Amino acid sequence: MLILVVNSGSSSIKYKLMDMERETVLLSGLAERIGLHGSKVKQTSDTGELVLEQDLPDHKVAMEIVLRCITDPQYGAINDVSSIKAVGHRIVHGGENFKKSMVVTDELIQGLEEIADLAPLHTIPHIVTIKSCRELISHAPQVTVFDTAFHQTIPKYAHMYGVPYELYQKYKIRRYGFHGTSHKYVSGRAAEILGKPLNELKIVVCHLGNGSSITAVGNGASIDTSMGFTPLAGLPMGSRTGDMDPAVVPFIMEKENLNVNEINDLMNKKSGVLGVSGVSSDFRDLEEAAEKGHERAELALSMFAYSIIKYVGAYTAALGGLDLLVFTGGIGENSKDMRARVLKGLAYTGLEVDEENNNTRGKEIIISKPGSKITAMVVPTNEELMIARETKALV
Ligand code: AMP
Repeated sequence: MLILVVNSGSSSIKYKLMDMERETVLLSGLAERIGLHGSKVKQTSDTGELVLEQDLPDHKVAMEIVLRCITDPQYGAINDVSSIKAVGHRIVHGGENFKKSMVVTDELIQGLEEIADLAPLHTIPHIVTIKSCRELISHAPQVTVFDTAFHQTIPKYAHMYGVPYELYQKYKIRRYGFHGTSHKYVSGRAAEILGKPLNELKIVVCHLGNGSSITAVGNGASIDTSMGFTPLAGLPMGSRTGDMDPAVVPFIMEKENLNVNEINDLMNKKSGVLGVSGVSSDFRDLEEAAEKGHERAELALSMFAYSIIKYVGAYTAALGGLDLLVFTGGIGENSKDMRARVLKGLAYTGLEVDEENNNTRGKEIIISKPGSKITAMVVPTNEELMIARETKALV
């Protein structure tokens, strides 16, 4: 059964064609700079790399070109789109309407349109892409998999903010959480590796990448997560502020004479470890600079590690204990230094690090010692596989 996984962003469409008999990837690609100059599609398969420089004025045209690449006689993996049995779409924001993955219907599209305000930069391209796929691959059912859905189990006392209740009712202002597909996949896989039932484990998942979030998983469900109404909340990230006193926002706006767009840009693109270090948003650059004695790079790394340690402590309290701590995402999977900083800060819990196992990159591995009170683990995330599995299950 062939499933096309589609992840559309504001100016890009990432895609993977998956064979779900063997859960293998037949090809993967990226249409980028949609609506901008210099747009192109890059695709990799067993037969090599296809690069197609082509005007992509909108997501509809981009999807047409993507399908042409997938069926390319030389670099494609199938002769005709009729081989695609279903399409799974990653949707960033499902608001309160969508608590689980769902098959696309006219009503579902209408529901998405109703909540587009919550994440317009993503939701509008999602809707265009879904509509295009319904037209272009009309025989195949479309499924939406929401990044927020896994967190819909967070109890109300944990997802509400202290704003007037009428604003929650009017605008649905509350914590939603993101990276849900990753947190769900990683917590499930970690329990499998440990050989214990997921619903008997208290797990904290640290998804550490360009965007980072931490989730407390109890009984297999998300009970709290660090991102909030938007993916700006929680840990200080590559270029996002993370948590801070909300009064800082009007203060900076007033002092620096910034409008809403400018402050949003500052908080999303110029802050976090990039803003603090003045070096980079990439942790490889930060680690290299810190090693050479760059004080602000070291400060940014310490802030990041400290923030993780605090969240793990808070979520251990929320869960009433901790059995399993899991690292994933670009930093979580690859940075032994960041993991070591975090694990050192958690030594008080009785967590004992296996230095040798921690000295690895990008693979599933237990990085705590056998007798450790808490098991620490690295599990590379696989959001596309999770989307394909949910799509398969629904169709
Ligand atoms: P992601 O958003 O999950 O793709 O993660 C991307 C981030 O992972 C990059 O910005 C880097 O900061 C980080 N990263 C990737 N490889 C390494 C590495 N070997 N060491 C430290 N950080 C890494």
